[in-house]
Amino acid sequence: MRILITGGAGFLGSHLCDLMLFHGHSVICMDNLVTGSTKNIQHLFGNQKFEFVQQDVTNFIHIPGKIDAVMHFASPASPVDYLKFPIPTLKVGSLGTHKTLGLAKEKKAIFMIASNPQHEKYWGNVNPVGPRGVYDEAKRFAEAMTMAYHRYHKMPVRILRIFNTYGPRMRLNDGRAVPNFITQALNGKPITVYGDGSQTRSLCYVDDLARGIYKLLLSNMNEPVNIGNPEEITLNELAQAVKTLVGSKSKIVHKPLPVDDPKVRCPDITLAKKALKWEPQVGLKQGLSKTIPYFKKALKG
Ligand code: UDP
Repeated sequence: MRILITGGAGFLGSHLCDLMLFHGHSVICMDNLVTGSTKNIQHLFGNQKFEFVQQDVTNFIHIPGKIDAVMHFASPASPVDYLKFPIPTLKVGSLGTHKTLGLAKEKKAIFMIASNPQHEKYWGNVNPVGPRGVYDEAKRFAEAMTMAYHRYHKMPVRILRIFNTYGPRMRLNDGRAVPNFITQALNGKPITVYGDGSQTRSLCYVDDLARGIYKLLLSNMNEPVNIGNPEEITLNELAQAVKTLVGSKSKIVHKPLPVDDPKVRCPDITLAKKALKWEPQVGLKQGLSKTIPYFKKALKG
């Protein structure tokens, strides 16, 4: 296949570029580098099957030649990023989804959208005017637009609902719990747990996620599918686990909880297990141990 991956220079996008090339496909990686970085894909620049196009996907996309799959993964994804880029976040999820859907229709390609974490059957409880609304509402619009193209134009679509993911190539300063905790622990700085730390997240190692995404792409599932790791832990437990694995003397301190910070987040992956024969294989400790060396190296510059 010849696959377009938008947001291909981002954390997750770059791992998808790697995986698709590994499976013998050709990849066009498109990114405007707002939050992505060519550092994440520089190892691919010599590869004949890899092309990089720097473009904002909210503008018309012209790509000569065939395309078999369009994977729309461009979006600021960490709360810090989408608070910094609220309008680009809304635009890439809405206008960007429309443009990439239009391209997929023109090329008769499969379309995949990376969406936000919620149960396949849950319709959501989003504060449209809260700071997180720019991300959540854009993703909700993106799903609705994707289904409209599926129903009206009979296009094959894949709606992937992603839960918290971590691994090498996360930005050191992307503001999320894993990069914050690891950099703080490595620097001997206080580890900042927001709120009382009793809120939970379920963290999926990026290779597991990418494998699940590939299976979903090759499936016939036109409805949303959750991909994530159901191993649920509190933020206090995460801070302690990172501290122990790094062997750090950092103190764990508490800071105010951000607005609309979800109390619980855990994917139900029954559908993915059944329909895709997929489940995560990398446990939290193992995944963190694979991630810490990346941060150590990145911190040295
Ligand atoms: N969090 C924290 N300390 C940090 C960064 C984040 O305690 O330095 C908390 C945050 O409040 C949330 C959880 O970690 O409860 C996961 O946040 P993250 O930004 O990783 O992603 P989210 O799941 O909120 O999108």
